[in-house]
Amino acid sequence: MATHTFLHLIDGHETPASSGETLPCVEPATGRTYATLAHGTDDDVDRAARAARAALHGPWGRMTPDERWAILERAADLLDARAEELAAAESRDTGKPLSLSRTVDAPRAPANFRNFARLARSLGGQAWEQHLPDGTRALHYTRHRPVGVVAVIAPWNLPLLLLSWKAAPALAMGNTVVAKPSEETPATATLLARILHEAGLPPGVFNLVLGDGRTGNALVQHPEVDAVTFTGSSDTGARIQAAAAPGMRKLSFELGGKNPAIVLHDADLEAALAGTVRSTFTNCGQVCLCSERILVHRSLHDAFVEGLVQRARTLRPGLPHDPATRLGPLISAAHRRKVHAAIDQARADGATVLTGGEIPDLDGDARGGFFFEPTLLAGLPDDAPTNQEEIFGPVAHIAPFDDEDEAIARANATRYGLAAALWTRDVRSAHRVAAAIDAGIVWVNTWNLRELRAPFGGVKLSGSGREGGEWSLRFGTETQAISVLL
Ligand code: NAD
Repeated sequence: MATHTFLHLIDGHETPASSGETLPCVEPATGRTYATLAHGTDDDVDRAARAARAALHGPWGRMTPDERWAILERAADLLDARAEELAAAESRDTGKPLSLSRTVDAPRAPANFRNFARLARSLGGQAWEQHLPDGTRALHYTRHRPVGVVAVIAPWNLPLLLLSWKAAPALAMGNTVVAKPSEETPATATLLARILHEAGLPPGVFNLVLGDGRTGNALVQHPEVDAVTFTGSSDTGARIQAAAAPGMRKLSFELGGKNPAIVLHDADLEAALAGTVRSTFTNCGQVCLCSERILVHRSLHDAFVEGLVQRARTLRPGLPHDPATRLGPLISAAHRRKVHAAIDQARADGATVLTGGEIPDLDGDARGGFFFEPTLLAGLPDDAPTNQEEIFGPVAHIAPFDDEDEAIARANATRYGLAAALWTRDVRSAHRVAAAIDAGIVWVNTWNLRELRAPFGGVKLSGSGREGGEWSLRFGTETQAISVLL
């Protein structure tokens, strides 16, 4: 029985949807509805966007940059102090093991606020002195102005991490924000909104509107929205691009992936196995960076397959707070049906199921959860749907290759281009192959090692633009050129 309703936070006030409409909030680990959330209407979006516009000209707009950054650093301290509460809320909404929320999601939020507040201090401009034919001179220089109202739309797999990743740089550059988290995972967004206000953010600077794609669609086309930063699926990205086009809004897209892991003949087998079990099954495969296509040099292939199957079978599914849990559930019953359908399609296409492929039989509260077995497939051609469509579950296909050129060509043979993991002990192969992969991010002998100052993003269907470091800060600015005749 749902007792709690997550609310919008608009212009500093927590409010329900203007229609009174709500959506259910389900715990993926048990299948139980534990709360509801406001289902944002066009009117709610309108109030939030107008509040964000007005706040640009209120106390926030009059503060010095140092005053704004101090608020963000205070928010980081408050997020640190409430890390355990945030981790618990994240695990409840996503089903991910508490060990993961505690080590990844909860610490990354304060890190985002701290980092972007600090990096913003050193974002400089450029200047050119021009000598004119008549002997006079001119000085041309750039300065950064906030873009204005930034819409932040986030997915359910890393709710707090991604919302803070997008909101922090926008705020650090003096913008105001209207954020819409996924309808599957509203909890940490509401905590973040409160914490930002507690840290001293004036009303209207960070507004939260809850709801589903309908709410998001109203937001991206609202006339007061100047820029949209979106992380989610490529299909939704394309819809947003079309909806946002008439306003010429600035767009940043972090989208889906079909990422390869490539194990070269000279790889450290143990390191590659440990890395690939992480890159395939972390967060039940629900990370945009997860490996879904594993290409292994034929000389290591059989040993690698045996090792990976063995390790996949040890990943114990369970409830988030159980310390023995190594694998959480999928986000929803609908998503589990989609993952299951992808396995059925692989089977119909002639795949060998090396391990997994089914719903595990669990006891107790986890019985109602949306769990799925870690699954490894083999035997399909590169152009099979299994090797082309993002599955976003604990599922990967493994295939052998014979030489480096073949590995590169096959790694690049999809419409996506987000990330790749490369395993080799040869420094020259590492650089050569990494440079040849069509992906925004290539990890060599590691996976998902993040440096918040480095660019992050994808090519092809995986996105457009880069986030991270100065790339995020620049997205939140309009560069103005000023030319002075001296
Ligand atoms: P999704 O595209 O279904 O939804 C993402 C967000 O967009 C949600 O908040 C949703 O309510 C909203 N939305 C849906 N329709 C909309 C519309 N028409 N207009 C505006 N907003 C709309 O994605 P998801 O299922 O929540 O997340 C999984 C996807 O996200 C996967 O494809 C994954 O690869 C991708 N992802 C990418 C990255 C990255 O950095 N590249 C990171 C995490 C997840």
